[in-house]
Amino acid sequence: MDGVLIFPVIETCSYAMLEIGFPAATATAAFCLHPGVPRRGEHMDLSRELLTAEMIDPGTGEPARTTIEVRHDPLTGHSSRIVPERGLMPASDFDLEAFAREVQPNCPFCPGRVDQLTPKLSASIHPDGRIMRGEAVLFANLHAYSSHSSVSIYSPRLHYLPLGQITRRLLTDNLATQVAFAQAVMAADPRSRWASINANHMLPSGSSLFHPHTQGIVDSQPTTMQRLLFEVPAQRFDNYLDTERRLGERYLGKTGRFEWIVSFAPIAPAELRAFAAGISSPAELDDDLIAELAHGLALALAAYAEMGFQSFNCAIYGAPPGTEGYPLNLRLACRSNLKAFYRSDSTFLERLHWEGAVDMPPEIVARRIGDRFRR
Ligand SMILES: [Zn+2]
Repeated sequence: MDGVLIFPVIETCSYAMLEIGFPAATATAAFCLHPGVPRRGEHMDLSRELLTAEMIDPGTGEPARTTIEVRHDPLTGHSSRIVPERGLMPASDFDLEAFAREVQPNCPFCPGRVDQLTPKLSASIHPDGRIMRGEAVLFANLHAYSSHSSVSIYSPRLHYLPLGQITRRLLTDNLATQVAFAQAVMAADPRSRWASINANHMLPSGSSLFHPHTQGIVDSQPTTMQRLLFEVPAQRFDNYLDTERRLGERYLGKTGRFEWIVSFAPIAPAELRAFAAGISSPAELDDDLIAELAHGLALALAAYAEMGFQSFNCAIYGAPPGTEGYPLNLRLACRSNLKAFYRSDSTFLERLHWEGAVDMPPEIVARRIGDRFRR
């Protein structure tokens, strides 16, 4: 966009900018600048700023303008840019099922190979070396990212598993293995109190293996986002949800104790968030909560499938068990569809500026998801 002029044009709430427009590391100082830190029940002003880019249209030679909306995440202050529809996330006619067949002969997660080719958990974590629930099988991650890293496949037989077929049952069993893993690690290694359950689904999301699976991390060190979320004052989570319930345009509904919204300031396309008050770690999920979470994830993935997406990331951000006021929360987002020479949705903005840039307004995403969380 060399040569494009950017003008700040409209409205923003300077109070909200002071309140949330800084990284968490400086959030305390930012709060101190304003006497009106939100109190219980007080609604947030969700901060937006409209920018206008002006350029000369190459066809007409006339000035042309385009609008960019900058939003700030109410929890961490990260900013996000909502740009006009540009077809950044095109549908794909790539034959995913044929590709699945092509790579299946060498897949280490398929029947006949999963037992021999995947590493077992150490005996201190689980005497059997694997954790099984229903069809789900959890084992140690060959490529560890933390002191304790797991992989859980939905089923050895489900090498090809499009989003619309990831059922509540499959998710419940898979999540149950990850919860059991987190509990076992924390019992064996009390320093590892930070647990997350994550997913790279299909290659554009970062998955190196085609066969669908989730990944668990349990560590003594939080990730950057876990730390930033941990530093968010508890009241701000409540006020964010209260505000979204009141406004309604991004609020999706509940699955049991999990409340689902479309992100106001997404870091990735079609990003959803969910929150469950009263628990702070995946290790604290009981069977009922696991089923409620699985229900919501299945609804969301079915919606993504209807919207034409094949790939997603998920992160369920745990804080240490018993963290007062911290709600277990997650992000779920679409990634580019798989096809030859596809455009990655993760650009210099997301990777190096930590700034989302999406051409699907969150309110449109919420409309496309509709009332399926309220039925
Ligand atoms: Zn496989």
